[in-house]
Amino acid sequence: MDMVPEWAWEFHGHHCPFMPLGYRMGKLAMKELGAGHEPDHGFFVIPELGIGHPQTCLMDGIQIATGATYGKSLMEKTFWGKLAAVFYHPQYLGKGALRLYVTNQFQDEFGKVEFFTYRKKKVEPSKIPDNVTKEAVDWMYAQSDDKVFKLDWIGDYKFTPARGSFNKVKCAKCGEYVFERYVRLVDNEPNCIPCSGYK
Ligand SMILES: [Zn+2]
Ligand SMILES: [Zn+2]
Repeated sequence: MDMVPEWAWEFHGHHCPFMPLGYRMGKLAMKELGAGHEPDHGFFVIPELGIGHPQTCLMDGIQIATGATYGKSLMEKTFWGKLAAVFYHPQYLGKGALRLYVTNQFQDEFGKVEFFTYRKKKVEPSKIPDNVTKEAVDWMYAQSDDKVFKLDWIGDYKFTPARGSFNKVKCAKCGEYVFERYVRLVDNEPNCIPCSGYK
């Protein structure tokens, strides 16, 4: 079983069961793909989570495991509000991808762990007693991969990562540099988006 390293908790900020669940998910995807921790820009993760539901800690665990981080533009959410993520590594799979979904059975049983009675009362994870959090984390670790994840291979996955460019221009209004793809023309002059007045 892949347990999160100590620094992961420090990075994440609190102890909770969803960050290590995401770590497991990332590690399992890497094992299936034969991929290592991503040093550069070759490994993409498309989580199907949204906002305003508390399981989003999952994504920190996925980033920690895979190195496919938000900061490297390797993570893009679909905002579908589902506990799933697609792992796409063209180097290993060509056009294929792997989708992992946290099973209904696991979600139903996990929801009954005491940790979530605190969370439903809006108690923040760092304020929940350590033993209650530990029980939730240990319970999660004790479940088998088969029970926790539904695994699907996608034969032809369409995802086009944005092309990187170092080209920048100076905004005619505020004088600050803007990377090219974000320049807007106002009266034929380059503007940054806030100065352009465009939404
Ligand atoms: Zn968390
Ligand atoms: Zn400007």
